Amino acid sequence: MNLADKIAIVTGAASGLGKGIAERFVAEGANVAIADLNADAANATARQLSAKGPGKALGLAMDVTNEAAVNAGIASVVAAWGGVDILVSNAGVQIVHKLEEYPFEDWKKMLAIHLDGAFLTSRACLPHMYAKGSGAIILMGSVHSKEASPLKSAYVTAKHGLIGLSKVIAKEGAAHGVRANVICPGFVRTPLVEKQIPEQAKTLGISEDEVVKRIMLGNTVDQKFTTIEDIAEVAFLFAAFPTNALTGQSLVVSHGWFMQ
Ligand code: NAD
Repeated sequence: MNLADKIAIVTGAASGLGKGIAERFVAEGANVAIADLNADAANATARQLSAKGPGKALGLAMDVTNEAAVNAGIASVVAAWGGVDILVSNAGVQIVHKLEEYPFEDWKKMLAIHLDGAFLTSRACLPHMYAKGSGAIILMGSVHSKEASPLKSAYVTAKHGLIGLSKVIAKEGAAHGVRANVICPGFVRTPLVEKQIPEQAKTLGISEDEVVKRIMLGNTVDQKFTTIEDIAEVAFLFAAFPTNALTGQSLVVSHGWFMQ
């Protein structure tokens, strides 16, 4: 399995998991569009990854909640490179509140980034994949696609929803050689998680050390964080797998925090 000359779009790729996945894909020979809300960081990441090669990277300013921006962004990748083989819908944020205090605006923002983003980017990529008769769509879920935690109502709802979306893409895409799968990471120390540690400590009235040991790693088999490289490895597997044998699946990568 390899990704030589494949064309990939990774959203939220200017940071954390998306950046790690983009780096892995470029190292495997793919050309990767670094799509992110933060245009400067996307361009900087693209320059950094292109310099490493052997694949190329280009920065793409994109708000995944904006229909016109998504359509224009995907079209620009197709114009530049001639198609799209792999989509990783990864852009995401976290907003925590108790449910009875959850602001409606924050709820809508969470569902827009995670669910509208996955829908809009998938919808824009599918016709190009269907035209080629092959493609891989990878949605970034979470252990919270399968499990719940207090304070994360919008995140848990959205991440569960991604599994439903991927199953529909798998069924509709099969005849066109398009596969869809979900990666479900446990806690990975990216900026998204670093931000949660003091926030959860404050909301739960416990120390930051307790948030890490008890809330984040308490149920793992070995009290270890999952790494960006672990997730990039699974993304590579889902991207490069050659047949419809592996589609409509969701794989938890969490040091045993959640077991199916
Ligand atoms: P991160 O904060 O490091 O990176 C997220 C990126 O998404 C940022 O570059 C940000 O600019 C971008 N982004 C945010 N809103 C966007 C929008 N509207 N349009 C385009 N880009 C946008 O976070 P991360 O930890 O790498 O998270 C990536 C994904 O992985 C998210 O979907 C997150 O829910 C999921 N996830 C993370 C963990 C973890 O422990 N870090 C665990 C499970 C799932």
